Amino acid sequence: MNRREIIETGLSEAKLVDKFGRQVTYVRISVTDRCDFRCVYCMGEEMSFLPRADILTLEEIGLVARVFSELGVKKVRLTGGEPLIRNNVMSVIEEIGALPTLNELVLTTNGSQLSKLSKGLVSAGVRRINISLDSLKADRFRQLTRTGNLETVLGGIDAAIAAGFSNIKLNAVILKGRNDDEIIDLVRFARDKKIDISFIEEMPLGDISSHDRGESYCSSDEILKIISATYPLESVDDSTGGPSKYYAMADSNSRVGFISPHSHNFCGDCNRVRVTVEGRLLLCLGNEHSVDLKDVLRSYPGDAERLKQVIFDAMDLKPERHYFNNDEDPQILRFMNMTGG
Ligand code: SAM
Ligand code: SF4
Repeated sequence: MNRREIIETGLSEAKLVDKFGRQVTYVRISVTDRCDFRCVYCMGEEMSFLPRADILTLEEIGLVARVFSELGVKKVRLTGGEPLIRNNVMSVIEEIGALPTLNELVLTTNGSQLSKLSKGLVSAGVRRINISLDSLKADRFRQLTRTGNLETVLGGIDAAIAAGFSNIKLNAVILKGRNDDEIIDLVRFARDKKIDISFIEEMPLGDISSHDRGESYCSSDEILKIISATYPLESVDDSTGGPSKYYAMADSNSRVGFISPHSHNFCGDCNRVRVTVEGRLLLCLGNEHSVDLKDVLRSYPGDAERLKQVIFDAMDLKPERHYFNNDEDPQILRFMNMTGG
């Protein structure tokens, strides 16, 4: 739809299509930059978080999600920071879950609050959930997350299974020399629990000091090779609209996924944008192209049509692809918790 048509018909039928013909149907919204963990690849040990006034209110997040759904977005993922530690987050989850044209509301969490919140999430309409789990060893889990407790997260995973999500996926970031010896154990755990697991290549987001990313980097191809030696993997074609490449195992329903921003460029069929905790619309994770939605939300409170127009126009900024290289200094000095992983 060109601008003239929009002026004539309004934005009610508009779709979010970028200059390269890709339609945006998926938005990830970071609901908080705060977290109860300090994972070594995500945050520094000492973090200072944004003042409350700088982050979108729950009402603003609800409006942003509604406007995206009215612009043809079918899937919203809430992430953070740790989304489930934000005060009253269930209210906005329920609001987004009730949006009539949204097909999917999904969540990425570290699992620490799932014992308490799993049932409410399912009632609110969250069908799929990703839970981060990098180690099954209590000491190591503590080292990798700095503050996390393995037992609490394992309890959260069991609560999520009992609550009846239609799909649960574990996310593991593998770092050489830190948890690469647990790849098979993590796959076995997912198989035992009858849930999926994805391995994420570490991305150079934010300047962390705990390790050298070049040395710790473990590629999806290496992980795939290790798993295949124990559990032969067969490539499957079912894309869930995300960047994961999935594999099946003949003797299990659990799938193994790989998210490989370095070794496989998934930009060509990118259908997503992100909204940061400060309300910046990021058109690409690996680039700084963005639009300040908070400014619009606060200058014109409640003006959904104006917000819609700004988001629609922003599509022209979406770049063709991202560039990551762990051997170079992080070009993007944002931490993952700010952008929403
Ligand atoms: N706190 C929640 C969690 O940990 O699942 C949601 C936010 S977290 C930023 C989302 C995902 O990003 C997690 O699976 C985490 O492992 C991953 N992540 C964080 N920093 C990363 C990095 N530098 N490279 C790759 N994945 C990262
Ligand atoms: Fe928190 Fe998730 Fe980042 Fe870990 S990866 S510090 S749990 S936001």
